[in-house]
Amino acid sequence: MSSPAEPPALVPPRLIERCQAILRQRPAAVACDIDGTLSVIAATPGAAIITDDIRVSLARLASRLDVVAIVSGRSAPIASTMVGLPELVYIGNHGMERLHQDEIWQNPEAAAAITAIAAAAAAVDAAFAAEAGTGWLLVENKGVSATIHYRLAPDPIAAQALLLPVISAAAARHGLIVTEGRLIFELRPNVPINKGSAIADLVARHGLRGLLFLGDDLTDVDGFLALQALRAAGAIDGLAIGVLGVESHPRVRETMDAGIPGVSAAAALLAALGDGLDRPATESVAAADFPR
Ligand SMILES: [Mg+2]
Repeated sequence: MSSPAEPPALVPPRLIERCQAILRQRPAAVACDIDGTLSVIAATPGAAIITDDIRVSLARLASRLDVVAIVSGRSAPIASTMVGLPELVYIGNHGMERLHQDEIWQNPEAAAAITAIAAAAAAVDAAFAAEAGTGWLLVENKGVSATIHYRLAPDPIAAQALLLPVISAAAARHGLIVTEGRLIFELRPNVPINKGSAIADLVARHGLRGLLFLGDDLTDVDGFLALQALRAAGAIDGLAIGVLGVESHPRVRETMDAGIPGVSAAAALLAALGDGLDRPATESVAAADFPR
């Protein structure tokens, strides 16, 4: 009986080698977004999970690297509960808060906007509470930001058009800004903090020389660009890895250094990265060699 054909690799071996070479440059870190990167996007945020294989890979990387960080739009405590590994650094709310070993820090300017966030989120909720056929709307107050989800809407394009003017008005009234993501809007404080500043802070704080950042959405593009700016300046070696799917925003593909097909490929990459970290570095491989 012939053996079944080998399935195609989810992650090209040369990309794994290149990532391993980056992680041999110490101090080194892996930073990952959660939703759409480490967890499959679920109908509601509470339904998303991180599988045990990814948890095991992250734990193994944390034991071999200087830092493993989660860089998420979720609140840091919720990100920490989802991942369940206290040894990781949790950068939540797009960089506005940080949780490490039970110590939580919030950017003071962002924390000053908590009341405004709550009021604007409540205003958006109230605007549609009495409107028939808007049961799909989910307003999630995350403290220093709020997410308005319309993934459950039967017509997401119509939902987006319905929501945007209301959310924009509420944001303007409370001195907040609006950002967009995969079938979500976010209300955020008007402070210059995003995943880009979070990545720059992570590099500075830990004196990193090697960094991989995995993300899937528009907010991760800020992180990609920050990593690439630090690499261009010679401060670090690193790769911005796009975790792609049918919903990927074009900016993710335009800005990433390499793309991998979805959460299962991210799981495969994280599993492979733990291997070979003890082996000597191989020749340098250019970022341009990888699929986009
Ligand atoms: Mg995401």
